Amino acid sequence: MYCPRTYTDLRKVKVGGIAVYVSESCGGVFLENQTLKLFECRSGERGKALSAHLAKFHNELQGLNAKVFCPLCVDTVMLRRFYSPLHVVEIDECPGCGGIWLDTGELAKLQSLMLNEKERALLRAQLMEECQPSKIEGHPHIRDAWIRRSDKVDKLMDIASYLTNGW
Ligand SMILES: [Zn+2]
Repeated sequence: MYCPRTYTDLRKVKVGGIAVYVSESCGGVFLENQTLKLFECRSGERGKALSAHLAKFHNELQGLNAKVFCPLCVDTVMLRRFYSPLHVVEIDECPGCGGIWLDTGELAKLQSLMLNEKERALLRAQLMEECQPSKIEGHPHIRDAWIRRSDKVDKLMDIASYLTNGW
């Protein structure tokens, strides 16, 4: 497989048992279908290891807006789409095989937007506290109110994930 940016060989490396294909000329990486989620958490061992590995080859290329061909399907142009709900990080995804190409620095950027489980739990507890209704005595549907509040907090959590990371 070749790097879709520099046309040099992609090197297959295994990170925590998962194969990824690294461009040592630009620091980009090709991930097979469904494997990105295994690397998106920066506090996870896999995510940390891959991010550190890619940083060694970091090379800011020109023209990163140009479309890329899938390294695996060769003739298929990858589609650029937003990965995160708040539309911060764009990734290239192959409509054929579901593989994902990340340009240099994109994994790190994506990881910076993800909170780990513990951070999410803490933030959630804090938001639930702040969303306490001032008065619920005599409310006929306290349970409903709780569920609505819980929904609201979950929505806030998505936004807060970005805010707490400086976005
Ligand atoms: Zn493909």
